[in-house]
Amino acid sequence: MCWTTNISSRERGGAIAADSGRDGIPAVDAGGMTFSGLGEWLGGLGLPPWRTGQIFGWIHRRLSGGFLDMSDLPSALRSSLSDAAYIWSPEPALRADSPDGASKFVFPLRDGLSVESVLLPVPGRITACLSSQVGCRVGCAFCMTGRTGFRRNLSAGEIAGQFNALRRLSGGRVTNVVYMGMGEPLLNVQAVLDSLTIITDPRGAGIGTRHVTVSTVGVPEGMAKLAAHPGQAGLAVSLHSAVQATRDRLIPAARRWGLREVRKAAIGYSSAKNRPVTFEFCLLDGINDSPDEARALGDFTRGVWCKINLIPCNDVEGTGFSRPPERRMKAFLDILTEMGREATVRKSLGSSAGGACGQLGASLGSEAPRE
Ligand code: SAH
Ligand code: SF4
Repeated sequence: MCWTTNISSRERGGAIAADSGRDGIPAVDAGGMTFSGLGEWLGGLGLPPWRTGQIFGWIHRRLSGGFLDMSDLPSALRSSLSDAAYIWSPEPALRADSPDGASKFVFPLRDGLSVESVLLPVPGRITACLSSQVGCRVGCAFCMTGRTGFRRNLSAGEIAGQFNALRRLSGGRVTNVVYMGMGEPLLNVQAVLDSLTIITDPRGAGIGTRHVTVSTVGVPEGMAKLAAHPGQAGLAVSLHSAVQATRDRLIPAARRWGLREVRKAAIGYSSAKNRPVTFEFCLLDGINDSPDEARALGDFTRGVWCKINLIPCNDVEGTGFSRPPERRMKAFLDILTEMGREATVRKSLGSSAGGACGQLGASLGSEAPRE
């Protein structure tokens, strides 16, 4: 309730809304190129390989919003690069600060849509929460993004650009990244993997892959692709029920991905990365908080190297869902603990007004009609 908002002029770098590729405006986002992709692109323009590190460093270390700022490049090169490509480097159109320290930002995209991202400070670290899509196709019943509908996938540059913008806004203090904003990352796998490659590249921001977590509703094919990707990014699987009928009701698209398949993909992930997966379980009063549901979750996770995060549902207007009473959540947790599972109840930051898990997209509602 106490968020303070501030609308900025947003006239910075490549953030000005424009149709890409028309009217002489470059269509290529250099900020969305991996190091090798940038090298190929620059090579195609006739530049020597050593320019790649210099330009990649400008974009992802020095957080430059445009080629014209790159003061150690010859000025003719700066202008020709600037004619050939842009760097999506947005200023927030809206900022909302929560009393618990979380800050939500709305960034304008070049096509007039917007995307939301969040900075979550906790002692010892600052986490950037990134969106992977504008809206979401999955349509979870308790999630604002799901209710908002789906507009489009974000490009790698729009994902890495959120990260760079949040780094700038935090004074360069981001230590961790979670793909837990708007959208289902594993339904936009290639852009997500490219953005992961970019943000973890030591020649750029160099965030350690172990400090990155991708959250998925449980898309087995995407989980396998992420498992095969280099590095050790963490995986969070939003399960919400280990009873197929309950899960189908909460996550309409989950009918395509049976629990057995999701479990197999989670086991494959933890063995490929040599680290546990996290199961996220949003507790909804009277829906998935019964002792039977807790036991089903305990059974489902038997033999899976995992941690379980129980998250009391955040309020989303109009869904009719609410969080269970404390004693019911405790009873749920106790059953899992007795079954030998590593489980905790976690509350997400920013829940008082629109920046917590499941609450993103409210400010975009009128722009993103359901598909
Ligand atoms: N699509 C991905 C990532 C984005 S959602 C996924 O579903 O995992 C990020 C997290 O917010 C997920 O764990 C999701 O289950 C959770 N979430 C959605 N709505 C919520 C709500 N109302 N209260 C608490 N968590 C919620
Ligand atoms: Fe999409 Fe995740 Fe929200 Fe479900 S919880 S609608 S998958 S963003």
